[in-house]
Amino acid sequence: MEYPDEILDLNQKIENAITGKTPERKIWVTSLSFCLRKAALSVYLGTFKYERTGEMLVGTVLHRWLGDVLEGDDVEFEVPVEYPLGDGWKLVGRVDALKGDYPIEFKFRGFGVDGNGPNSLEEMEWAPKLAREQLNAYLNMMGKEKGYVYVFDRNGLNFRPFPVERDRDAFSQFIKRAGVVIKGVRDLEAGRFPLWIKPRYGDRECEGCIFRPICTAVESK
Ligand code: SF4
Repeated sequence: MEYPDEILDLNQKIENAITGKTPERKIWVTSLSFCLRKAALSVYLGTFKYERTGEMLVGTVLHRWLGDVLEGDDVEFEVPVEYPLGDGWKLVGRVDALKGDYPIEFKFRGFGVDGNGPNSLEEMEWAPKLAREQLNAYLNMMGKEKGYVYVFDRNGLNFRPFPVERDRDAFSQFIKRAGVVIKGVRDLEAGRFPLWIKPRYGDRECEGCIFRPICTAVESK
């Protein structure tokens, strides 16, 4: 009998439970650049796909547009990558594009909007920190030595590619962040809320976070 994907997935989970096999647990590369308590809650509650912000959705539309205009130009888009973390856990992600040996991330940003940071593409010295961090993770996961962050100015869509070299030490630190998430998930599974994990960028990161009501309730006890 043919079953839909949802039922096959459910069957797999039940079979895993019966045989005691640990199911694969995924941590997304992008989630490690932000609050790790949020990443742990996201894994524990399975909410990652619901956490897209308006900014991310704009990015998705622009990514699709790039996919259309570059179609057939020997570029692969949304290339899945993964890296084993042990004990059934793995780090996963999708590189925006791969051209030959070069993984590429696309970032779209406005300039001169809030008075912070460079006012134009020309003023930028480096690709944004988080984009470099994530591309470096992909370089290490894929065994590549160099990639590019393409930064697009949302006003007019001018762009500039910034090279990023593979940094193994930075990736080791990044993997340690995955370890914090795994420990946070284990705490949650044991009924302990991981209050010891603090937001990476302070309270401002909590604004707009879907887990804020939960964190506020637990912290106020
Ligand atoms: S509300 Fe703040 S501390 Fe809680 S998960 Fe979100 S970002 Fe992290």
